[in-house]
Amino acid sequence: MSEENCLFCKIIAGKIPGDFVHQDESCVVLRDINPQAPMHVLVIPRAHLESLDEASQKEESLLGHLLRVGARVANDQGHAEEGYRTVINTGAGAGQSVFHLHVHVLAGRGMHWPPG
Ligand code: 5GP
Ligand code: ZN
Repeated sequence: MSEENCLFCKIIAGKIPGDFVHQDESCVVLRDINPQAPMHVLVIPRAHLESLDEASQKEESLLGHLLRVGARVANDQGHAEEGYRTVINTGAGAGQSVFHLHVHVLAGRGMHWPPG
């Protein structure tokens, strides 16, 4: 999917509303529109990358940043002690439905393993 037709690029550009909980120069965090846990946010790089599979060595520090921001948001929202889950779905077969890389961060309920 091209950047022009990408839902998350449109939200980041302000063309579609989003409930942002964090923004910095390389990523944004917004609440998922269909939350699967009491806290369910998406950490999304500003740069359009279709998926984790498209990331290369030059994105290594960005990938680390996304995880650290997700951890900080979970902490800020009081979920450090009980724990939280970070998920990256890569490819339709793994459940990816928006083809702009994002890290889900979920917390506030018991989590099962293995995931479905
Ligand atoms: P994926 O299935 O690609 O791993 O995750 C995409 C996520 O984006 C889903 O959890 C879905 O609920 C969320 N989502 C889809 N459309 C929107 C939207 O317009 N706004 C927000 N905030 N989240 C969305
Ligand atoms: Zn995009």
